[in-house]
Amino acid sequence: MTSEPAVAKKDMVRRGVVLVLSSPSGAGKSTLTRALMDKAEGLNVSISVTTRARRGSEIDGVHYHFISQRQFESMRDAGELLEWATVHGNSYGTPRKPVEDALARGQDILFDIDWQGALQAREAMPDDVASVFVLPPSAAELRHRLERRAEDAPEVILRRLRNAAVEIARWTEYDYVVINDDLDRCFNEIRSILEAERLRRSRRVETGEFANRLAAELAETLI
Ligand code: 5GP
Repeated sequence: MTSEPAVAKKDMVRRGVVLVLSSPSGAGKSTLTRALMDKAEGLNVSISVTTRARRGSEIDGVHYHFISQRQFESMRDAGELLEWATVHGNSYGTPRKPVEDALARGQDILFDIDWQGALQAREAMPDDVASVFVLPPSAAELRHRLERRAEDAPEVILRRLRNAAVEIARWTEYDYVVINDDLDRCFNEIRSILEAERLRRSRRVETGEFANRLAAELAETLI
């Protein structure tokens, strides 16, 4: 009996990647996220809910879903959040449904979340998460970036700087670490991580089946 020859299909179905990016505020993570959304094909961003006040430049439903503490608690208690944390005194969380939908469609999704959320996401989806910690080039540069942004009150900036030390100490819990001293280089590094994660054997069920058929076909020709 001759079976169909094993032929590689170009775009085989694979499991989506949950790309988690964490860094202290001011390390340039938002800029990197925007660049990834613009240039890394097939990547969706998870829009978090938060109880923090909206900054002037932010749009509800685009940067965050801005909700009240009561709404936040009701989502959390109903199990609608995949992970949540209190960061700089405000509540933040990742809505579960859009993530599950994206992964079911084989699409990749980017989380811009803190280390507490990264730990929970890894626990909830151990096979899906690839996590990257973005470091600022120096303490002085971190302070400059936070002050330049000028969207937050001085006491908020101070609190964020104090938290930065705590957050940076968590870098060892991530799969990858990058230093954002050059935006283009850092962007390219993160894009390479995404590309490599997309090719992971565990995410490529159909490719595995192709490999098995290929091996069987080759073995047959040797009989
Ligand atoms: P910002 O208020 O500057 O937008 O964000 C503050 C911090 O909260 C950042 O480190 C950001 O990554 C984190 N964050 C944003 N959304 C979420 C979320 O849904 N979950 C968690 N755990 N952290 C979040």
